[in-house]
Amino acid sequence: MATTRNILSSFRYEVAKAARTCDVSSKHKIVAGEKHFAYEPVPGQRKNICMACAPAIIKKAQDHLAKIASELS
Ligand SMILES: [Zn+2]
Repeated sequence: MATTRNILSSFRYEVAKAARTCDVSSKHKIVAGEKHFAYEPVPGQRKNICMACAPAIIKKAQDHLAKIASELS
């Protein structure tokens, strides 16, 4: 049986190697050494999300997945 691919494997927490700007608001700065959420909607095009915005972003994705999963049955 083929191994199931994880299509969300780009979702991860990272420690910023340099200063970043939060993708939700350009007013949110992520400083070097700070933990933040990251994902790649397009491989190689990383989006950085500050820890203040990360819970809402992850919840939205969870809700979307739950909705999709509920439509299977
Ligand atoms: Zn933010």
